[in-house]
Amino acid sequence: MYQAFLLKYAEIGIKGKNRYKFENALCEQVRHRLGKIEGSFRVTREQGRIFVEAEEDFDFDDAIQAMGRVFGVSSISPVTVIQQKEWTNLTQAVGDFVEEQYPEKRFSFKVKCRRSDKGYPYTSPEVCSEMGGYLLNRFPELSVDVHQPDVLIWVEVRDKAYVYSKVYRGACGMPLGTNGKAMLLLSGGIDSPVAGYMIAKRGVFIDAVYFHAPPYTSERAKQKVVDLAKLISGYTGPVRLHIVNFTDIQMYIYEQCPHEELTIIMRRYMMRIAETIAKETDCLGLVTGESIGQVASQTMQSLAATNDVCEMPVYRPLIAFDKQEIVDISEKIGTYETSILPYEDCCTIFVAKHPVTRPVLSVIRRSEEKLADKIDAMVQEALATREIIDIDE
Ligand code: ATP
Ligand code: MG
Repeated sequence: MYQAFLLKYAEIGIKGKNRYKFENALCEQVRHRLGKIEGSFRVTREQGRIFVEAEEDFDFDDAIQAMGRVFGVSSISPVTVIQQKEWTNLTQAVGDFVEEQYPEKRFSFKVKCRRSDKGYPYTSPEVCSEMGGYLLNRFPELSVDVHQPDVLIWVEVRDKAYVYSKVYRGACGMPLGTNGKAMLLLSGGIDSPVAGYMIAKRGVFIDAVYFHAPPYTSERAKQKVVDLAKLISGYTGPVRLHIVNFTDIQMYIYEQCPHEELTIIMRRYMMRIAETIAKETDCLGLVTGESIGQVASQTMQSLAATNDVCEMPVYRPLIAFDKQEIVDISEKIGTYETSILPYEDCCTIFVAKHPVTRPVLSVIRRSEEKLADKIDAMVQEALATREIIDIDE
């Protein structure tokens, strides 16, 4: 029934001279997503909108879902294309549209028009009032309500004419690739996939690093992280996942340092290693799923101690979120069910009974001096032996 879709975008409209770059990035992402479903689509942009025309049969729900994942799109409307926009044909076609879309006619409506063909014999207000009159005449059960209509019927007159009335909410945010790339520290928990999704939503491509500690963490725990990366790539685009073997480093810290400082020191080494990979791969920042006060390693003092080793900005999009708010997003994006699978987490294997909650930086640095003999070589080894998996939805 529908042959085309009209996509609207909000925020990128304000980008001045750079606007075309954002629009091109947006079209590219729409093409990329649609390329993954059956059918062939033509994506064009025109005056603050994107038109997607289907060139062959396609699945409507798949198309809506695919476009609904493109960051930067604020709404998606299925539209019917009217090849002959000459007035009698236009009214007839809009009437047919209402006929088919709304079998039950007892509703109020209002016609809205946008006209980019300035040579068209009717102005926009004329299209609205004349079309309204035509529809009332053809379907006497309808009524007009210009203030709070049940249905808004949009008519756009361009080279062709278009009619639509349904609006699906888009993913909003900014098109991927318009804001560089960042390195996500991805664990198997609930928070970090959500953090990655949120940063990607601002137009940032995501790569990820996972610290694996075999045999203390199992292959299944690793597979869970791969699965989570796959799930977020449905929004963020392809993700290059670096899997770093952290066992030796973790054991060495465990042997040399006070146990109540273990988590903080481990987190510091994770950040150092993630930053090294991030620098090698043109990332402009690190991303974590931390949130103030959630656990001992996320108090303000602990965050300061973790942050201390980073030169790059560390983005923590969940910093002020409550757990339930994070859970709600993870359910919405479809990562929750995977995140709660009960596999061991390398952070929790050697957790002390009473971890420090107010680490003092000078004390932590002093403890780390006990690692001086071997730690640099271990970090080099961990970097050199990392496994890289390219993940796409
Ligand atoms: P999450 O649900 O994301 O695992 P969490 O509440 O369990 O978070 P922590 O385990 O303290 O919190 O980890 C804080 C952040 O550190 C995580 O959100 C993630 O960004 C990073 N992180 C923790 N463990 C790992 C790991 N094994 N590999 C990669 N990143 C990790
Ligand atoms: Mg965790």
